[in-house]
Amino acid sequence: METLPRVGPSLAKKLGRLGLRTVRDLLEHRPHRYEQPVPERPIAEVLAEEEVAIAGEVRTVNVRRPRRRLALVEARISDGTGEVKATWFNQAWLAEKLQPGTRVRLRGSLGRYGFTVKSYDLDGGGATADFAPVYPATEDLTPKRIRELVAAALDLAGEQWDALPAALRVDEQLPSRSDALRALHQPAGLEEAETARKRLAFDELLVFQLGLARRRVGREADTAPALGEPGEVVARYRALLPFTLTDGQERAIADVDGDLAKPKPMERLLQGDVGSGKTVVALYALLRAAEAGFRGALMAPTETLAEQHFLTVEPLCRELGIPVGLLTSSVPARERVGALEARILVGTHALIQEDVDLSDLAVAVVDEQHRFGVEQRRAITGSRSPHVLHMTATPIPRTLALTVYGDLAVSEIAEPPANRKPIVTAWVTEERSSEAYKRLRKHLDDGRQAYVVCPLIEESETSLARAAEREAERLRNGELRGYRVGLLHGRLRPAERRDLMAQFNARELDVLVATTVIEVGVDVPNATIMIVQEADRFGLAQLHQLRGRVGRGAEQSYCLLVSRPGEELTDSARERLEAMVRTTDGFELAEVDLDIRGEGQLLGTRQAGLSDLRFTRLRADRDVIEQARAAADRLVGEAGPLDDEVERFFADREPAA
Ligand code: ADP
Ligand code: MG
Repeated sequence: METLPRVGPSLAKKLGRLGLRTVRDLLEHRPHRYEQPVPERPIAEVLAEEEVAIAGEVRTVNVRRPRRRLALVEARISDGTGEVKATWFNQAWLAEKLQPGTRVRLRGSLGRYGFTVKSYDLDGGGATADFAPVYPATEDLTPKRIRELVAAALDLAGEQWDALPAALRVDEQLPSRSDALRALHQPAGLEEAETARKRLAFDELLVFQLGLARRRVGREADTAPALGEPGEVVARYRALLPFTLTDGQERAIADVDGDLAKPKPMERLLQGDVGSGKTVVALYALLRAAEAGFRGALMAPTETLAEQHFLTVEPLCRELGIPVGLLTSSVPARERVGALEARILVGTHALIQEDVDLSDLAVAVVDEQHRFGVEQRRAITGSRSPHVLHMTATPIPRTLALTVYGDLAVSEIAEPPANRKPIVTAWVTEERSSEAYKRLRKHLDDGRQAYVVCPLIEESETSLARAAEREAERLRNGELRGYRVGLLHGRLRPAERRDLMAQFNARELDVLVATTVIEVGVDVPNATIMIVQEADRFGLAQLHQLRGRVGRGAEQSYCLLVSRPGEELTDSARERLEAMVRTTDGFELAEVDLDIRGEGQLLGTRQAGLSDLRFTRLRADRDVIEQARAAADRLVGEAGPLDDEVERFFADREPAA
């Protein structure tokens, strides 16, 4: 970085804080938007409030300090047609540079303070140009400064080295990397900028896909026990289920059977919306391991979910004569030893990884795996190579799933079980929340159960718990007087939480007042109504997950979203609630969420690899994704300059094995 003109150690340090350490980092620093084109006007023709560019010469300059903490640089600018007072806020140091006679080009608009300057160029430069790039600014580095540095880097770097084989570039009709980088930072128009971005997206996607393909090759020698044909235990399991499997479940099971028959470790992603019945398939896979004399492990992201799974799985397994063990931090160490005798283990990842010698592990199921990053997922299996089934309820379009997981096979459970009625969702304003509770009590009186979700406060887990306690108390003395109300929050001790869930499962509680800890996996089909308080504070994905706690049985279920009236909400909060009322389709909601929140949010920041893609726009770039995938397949066996890129891309992200 310090090879650039006027970059010393202190500036280099500031840049470092933005993750910019080399000239290359700077060149690959993506503008988050471009300035709109604006007309250049003679000063005499500038209209109030209109954003324009003017060009002229400084006549006079002075600095005023009308109050503490406010410094105005005021310069009179003339262009022959007229004169205008231009104003900069809090940049007193600029006055020195704006000496009379200086040529300037200014972009801004005419208002209360004269011509308020948004960006400016002295003696050439590109800050006021149409489509000038805008970089995310930080306190000590303005977009203008970054623009200058990037321009210097572009000049210094000259021809950029291009790792793409020339033939490929020609085939795919891509601009050279140098041209793309220049157009990214200094485009003549938005279309040019977009073409450049796509070329750079292609590069990173290709490198990413190549890395995944290599890894696949590297694992070709791994083996897992081939489990042959389904046996007697899973036949009894099917007979034991109180329902027939959906087509999606049957297909997923057939996929799993196909994988398990081979000595090559299964790497399968099971995708299905909340409540689609993934757990049934998961238990099937685990039983296949057990009946073949091996072990199966079901790993969940939280203790609540692990315990919940245990409560679901244990009675079925008992019936089948297969011992099951629960491994969470709440289970005392001596009991864990007992659990080691079990053929099927249920627990949080941490414990299963730390405590257990799983040399005879044949099948691992990873639930809600979207909550984990790449490293964590790898750590699950460590040096072992069991068959792995990853489950996720975050709907991801298939091509994207292939991009993210690259080397995973995908099974989808597209439809919910047939006896399900779509959850009816209503948006209720706070003034009418008493009606919501009336409705809820009606369900309780009919023998159903309910959830009340507490407002989300952006504070610690502890204050969240305290607020939930107060809310539960308030409800016990108010809307829910006379009913059995339990309270579930993140600060409960594991044993308390387990007892609570067991009580709710056994219908010894009518209502569970809860924080978002119930968001994932809690499964009580008799719960048919949910009230979410201050629903406008929750994210869309979160609301969808929460709502998935009801509608799990044959009864019609309801979700009542309580919030302030629409006029008082932000646009995006209103859009979220409207979307929730309009549809229960997780895929559609994911798309809406993406629209509301913008790029890069589809899967959350922790999603493997995706957060490392800087230029790719997941939805707009499906064609580029396909293109890169196909190219990666062709190039996987070839050595070349791309190797270094692959190494570089993955080096930062993976701790040495
Ligand atoms: P997911 O993990 O996909 O959110 P679950 O596996 O927890 O969903 O299933 C949700 C509920 O649906 C459970 O109560 C389960 O017993 C029930 N269920 C699963 N499969 C079926 C089916 N084929 N028919 C009826 N109910 C089912
Ligand atoms: Mg589940």
